[in-house]
Amino acid sequence: MYGFFKNKRIVLYDTLIQQCNEEEVVAILGHELGHWKLNHTMYTFAAVQILTILQFGGYTLVRNSKDLFQSFGFDSQPVLIGFILFQHTVTPIQHFVSFGLNLVSRAFEFQADAFAKKLGYGTPLRSGLVKLQEENLSAMNTDPWYSAYHYSHPPLVERLAAIDESDKKAD
Ligand SMILES: [Zn+2]
Repeated sequence: MYGFFKNKRIVLYDTLIQQCNEEEVVAILGHELGHWKLNHTMYTFAAVQILTILQFGGYTLVRNSKDLFQSFGFDSQPVLIGFILFQHTVTPIQHFVSFGLNLVSRAFEFQADAFAKKLGYGTPLRSGLVKLQEENLSAMNTDPWYSAYHYSHPPLVERLAAIDESDKKAD
């Protein structure tokens, strides 16, 4: 799902239509529409813009910091050294940023799943997700910390558990 305002597109891959029955395709459409209804695309877009600006700001700070250059033994401030210093000061922060972005993106996936479920497609969403996972052959049950750091999408087992969890609350 991508696009803004009147130019939104949802792309369904042909493999999806081949593997899933009609209800499952509709359930996955419901998930994608959830991203739209809950403004996820907007938030992600805004976050990327802000991060880009912060990066430029961070570079300017490093570039103009006489102290930083001096503490690495440079009396002048060569551009190349500025890039290297920037790399070394910002890269560690970027790990936290990408971890944070993954957390948000995963929360969005759970919300979109819950949205499809609220539309009454909990069961076909489950079976659709399982079928897609089989086709992609991605790991079914990864370590939650590993996945929290590396994946923007939560692993299948966690998503199915969340869909079931809201079942229990509803009862
Ligand atoms: Zn999604």
